Formats: sequence, structure tokens, C-alpha cells
Amino acid sequence: MKRFSYSSLETYKKCPAQFKIRYIDNIRKPDESIEAFMGKRVHEALEYLYNEVLDGCIPFFDHVVDKYNSNWQDKWHNRIGIVRTEKSTNYYKSLGEDCIARYYRKYSPFEEPLVGNEIELNFAIDKDGKYVIKGIVDRLDHDGDGNWEIHDYKSGKRALTQSQADKDNQLALYQIGLMSKDKEIKSVKLVWHFLQHGIKVESVRTEKQLRDLSISIKKQIDKIRSQMNSGGEFPAKESILCNWCYYWEECHVQNGANPFIK
Ligand code: SF4
Repeated sequence: MKRFSYSSLETYKKCPAQFKIRYIDNIRKPDESIEAFMGKRVHEALEYLYNEVLDGCIPFFDHVVDKYNSNWQDKWHNRIGIVRTEKSTNYYKSLGEDCIARYYRKYSPFEEPLVGNEIELNFAIDKDGKYVIKGIVDRLDHDGDGNWEIHDYKSGKRALTQSQADKDNQLALYQIGLMSKDKEIKSVKLVWHFLQHGIKVESVRTEKQLRDLSISIKKQIDKIRSQMNSGGEFPAKESILCNWCYYWEECHVQNGANPFIK
């Protein structure tokens, strides 16, 4: 494998078998959880909002929600899993709307020094380009004076505490990516928006923390590559997360298809 994403590395930690099926055997499916489906629609609505802001106008709240609802309708498909069977589709749809409403109320009139939305990163964490990472930054801000902020929108029900955010690797990895570009950088702040809670958590990293993160990511990639090269096993790790996994047909510890796809 030439390039790794943060989510692929996380998948490997949670279940090496799922990693192999998805990223080595390259089996892709339309199946997804309703939480993931809702999260994508919320991200699209916020992307629309900030693209309008970049174009110099602030969209009305109703227009942002209309965007969310039309995308929800247009992109709905019949391979969406609902694991929490006591909750309805409408529950999740409203939850996404509430996330957008809360965010809109809190940040209107959106004066953040925005540089862009959904920015694709592709960068090496070593000099020789052997360890390449790809990722997408939800939003990037820059005050024009070398002070950057990497923003991430989370629509799930779990919010990170400050100490969890200080240890979280995803945005720190994106910081390494940002710093590898030829930009003036005085400071980088990592910012998470936990949309169900209406809270923002911020964190910064030291140079040593970033160096240590690079080393640990390289080690993880080395481990995966050596397993691949030696034909080693990618063991299945059964857990509660199997409910949200859509590779039951390919997984040797499961029977049949994921039962939560209706
Ligand atoms: S069903 Fe569970 S054990 Fe099997 S690949 Fe998916 S997460 Fe891993």
C-alpha cells in the first residue's frame, strides 16, 4: 500500500481483518450506518454554508437546512444500517438538523478567517516519501499572519474531553501535513466541533509530540507492510463494532450479512 489514511490506520487497530478486506482486498460496498449517512449530510450542509461565506454572502438558516434535506432525500439508498433499532430514520434526520441549527446559532455571522472547506491533504511524513498519508480537513482557517486552525466537525454522540483531545491523533496528523507544505506557520490550533453538544474543544501540539506521532505512525505502517509482505494473518477482532461493520459476508467469524441493513 502506498498511501494510508487516518481512518484506515484506525480500522487496522480496531479489526485487522476489516482493514484487509477494505484496504488490501479493496472491497467497497455502498453499505453504511445511518450515523455515517447523517454525518456526511451535515458535513455537506456546513460545507455549503462556508462556501457561500467564501463567496461573500451568508446563507439563511433555512437555505442551509434545505440543502441538508435535499441531499438527505437525493442520497438516501437501501443499504443503510440502523443498529439502534429503537430509533427511527426521522430521529436521525432531526438530529442532523439540530446539529446544524445549534452550529448556525452559535457561529452566525461566520466571521472566521476561513481559507477553505474539505481540503484534501496528501503528504509524506518522512524525507524519502515512503510513508504517505492522505486525509481531508473539514475546514482550515488562517488569520493571514501565520496562525492556523484545523477544524473538524463531529456529528456523533461522543464528545472528547480536553485530555482525550490532547491525545487524539487525527488532527495532529493533519497538522504534520499542513506543516509539510510551504506555508508560513507560527502556530496551529486543532479544533473539534461536537455538534450534538454544541461545544468546541481546542488543543495544540508540541514539536516533540508531532515527532513522536510520526514515529508511531511509521511503526504502524511498517507492521502492516511486513504482515502484507510475509502473507501474515490479519486476525478478526470481534467486538460491539461488528454491528457497524458491513463486511460480514467476507468475514470468517460471521454468518450471513449484517442483520441491521434493512
Ligand atoms: S464483522 Fe467484526 S470481526 Fe468481522 S471484519 Fe467486521 S469488525 Fe472485524
